[in-house]
Amino acid sequence: MSKLNNIKDHSVRFSDDFPLISTVKNLCRVCYTCVRECPVKAIKIIDGQAEVIQSRCIACGNCVTVCSQGAKVFYKSSDRVKALIASDAKTIVCIAPSFPAEFFEHTDPYQIVGMLRKLGFDLVTEVSFGADMVAKAYKDLFNNEKTSSVITSDCPAIVFYIEHYHPDLVPLLAPIVSPAMAMARAVKQKYGADSKLVFIGPCIAKKAESDEFDESLTFSELRLLFKEENITKENSSISKFDKPISGKGAIFPVNHGLIKTIGRSEKLGEGEVVTAEGKEKFKEAIHELETGLLKNQHLELLCCDGCIQGPGMTIKGKQLKKRLQINQYVNQKLENLDEQEWKKDMAQCASISLHRSFHPSDRRTAKPDQKLINEVHASMGKNAETDFLNCGACGYETCEKYATAVVEGLAETEMCLPYAIEKLHESVEDLNLSNYKLADTKQALKQSEKLASMGQVSAGIAHELNNPLGIITLYSSILKDELDEKNPIFEDIQMIEEQAERCKTIVSGLLNFARKNKVNLKEVDLFEFIKKSLKSVLIPDSVTVNIIDNLMEKNTLLDKDQMMQVLTNLEKNAVEAMPNGGKLTIELKDKNDTVIIHISDTGNGIKKENLEKIFTPFFTTKKLGKGTGLGLPLVYGIIKMHKGKINVKSNTNTKEGPVGTTFKITLPK
Ligand code: ADP
Ligand code: MG
Repeated sequence: MSKLNNIKDHSVRFSDDFPLISTVKNLCRVCYTCVRECPVKAIKIIDGQAEVIQSRCIACGNCVTVCSQGAKVFYKSSDRVKALIASDAKTIVCIAPSFPAEFFEHTDPYQIVGMLRKLGFDLVTEVSFGADMVAKAYKDLFNNEKTSSVITSDCPAIVFYIEHYHPDLVPLLAPIVSPAMAMARAVKQKYGADSKLVFIGPCIAKKAESDEFDESLTFSELRLLFKEENITKENSSISKFDKPISGKGAIFPVNHGLIKTIGRSEKLGEGEVVTAEGKEKFKEAIHELETGLLKNQHLELLCCDGCIQGPGMTIKGKQLKKRLQINQYVNQKLENLDEQEWKKDMAQCASISLHRSFHPSDRRTAKPDQKLINEVHASMGKNAETDFLNCGACGYETCEKYATAVVEGLAETEMCLPYAIEKLHESVEDLNLSNYKLADTKQALKQSEKLASMGQVSAGIAHELNNPLGIITLYSSILKDELDEKNPIFEDIQMIEEQAERCKTIVSGLLNFARKNKVNLKEVDLFEFIKKSLKSVLIPDSVTVNIIDNLMEKNTLLDKDQMMQVLTNLEKNAVEAMPNGGKLTIELKDKNDTVIIHISDTGNGIKKENLEKIFTPFFTTKKLGKGTGLGLPLVYGIIKMHKGKINVKSNTNTKEGPVGTTFKITLPK
């Protein structure tokens, strides 16, 4: 018996120092597809980046297959294979039976054999002979084992899954090596234990399955090697495989391969073999077995949808075409098979032990405290049952599983799409609000700037004009006194005097802007104050005045002189807007910490296009000599100094309601 017979567990475990699958950080766009597709949730999202947790990974390579950005990469062995070929050792390649499904551009499947020889391998063999060996062992096991369930162990990812996540089921794993490992043993027996073996196949997990192979390549790595070495089907010859020659085992990689190889049909029944392939189905099957739903059932479990869909294949999908390729290859192979020769080879290997053992290594983590999980739910606003959408956008099937991952430090709260959208909405709302505030402040600033520059200019002008105006009024009044009223120039002089007075009014209006920004607040009985303000405005009989006092508190703090200017200006404007008479209403009320004064008239209103201009200095619609356009800017400045607000509503169109204007002043108490 060869020394290989006693080998028990050859698996090469991966770790942080030997990461089998890892993430290229700058390629990861954090779409969570890898999280979703990982059957054991061995992917952690940290700082918005996906990272493979080596201790949880079962090397199935699902994440490599599904990542559209190529951000998931696996350990590459090409350089080491090249070094092996270049060494003095005898190098033997064992190619997996799925090869016709990978190289379907080759019209003759044996083209690949020639290419491998050209690459420099001394011998080129087919793993399907290992499948023949293993099939016999399974047949025996299934025939003998009628009273207990058996799980096939030819898929290394399934073996890792059971060892790590269902350690109690380890005794059910068939104690039989995989076809590849059987092949390694057969080849070493035939060609010498010191020969160097390279496996080539569709599987990433194979790299960690066994150290009986010196190196393991995927088909995708092989294609790159061919490219690097410029090996094509055109420049290499067609060649046959080296012995041992395989038989039916070549059908192994298609769906239900093992069952087909051992010549059984899939039936559900005790002691029968059923197949579950793909990441959802194999987990379900294990769950059914574990929970006792299935008894004495033999399960052929595969992590991928048949090995022909392995992550090391360069062609994804195309299930039927791949199956067709394998079938054609196997049929042709069996037609030409020299049965005697095959039986001889099998007999030579009959003494090789195909035994294998497994080691439970529990990697399950205890579920965190429910209180902490609930806290995560609450932090994302998930309180009521209807808040748990279980939408799966984060990559986890349920909100509960996701929150658990957050507590375990595997996921981040940003991964919850509904939560992220809600947060986005809130931010947009906040942004809108601050935009609105900003626009308001900008407007106020513009107005203040205007008023400030007005103040500077007017202080200068007013100062310069006051003296000559004083002289003009003084002399015109002396002249007027000296003239008889009947004198023809009396009226002219009087006109000069009047207009000079008017100029003085404008100048004093300008001076108001030049005043320092200071208010001298005093307690004032607002109702009395309003009554007083009305006395200094000339109100014609055609205008009726109404004061509505809804004040709860009589007194308000304000600067009397300045506020008197505000009121008289607004009242004057109102009266001037009602040349044919109307109603002037002043309403007083307090709300929370503010006092509100409405001054409304039934005048002709302010046109829409003028509404935003009325607070601009010198804007007036009144006839030359009638208006200065300085009233409202002054009012605005004074209200702002009181830390208050002034708004205006006006209507000029009888169709849209009663015409008139209302100024609303809001002052803090
Ligand atoms: P002025 O009264 O000297 O024209 P203001 O600054 O006081 O200057 O007012 C500017 C303009 O605003 C007025 O010319 C008028 O067009 C408009 N306005 C102000 N108050 C009223 C009102 N109550 N009704 C209609 N228009 C008004
Ligand atoms: Mg005015």
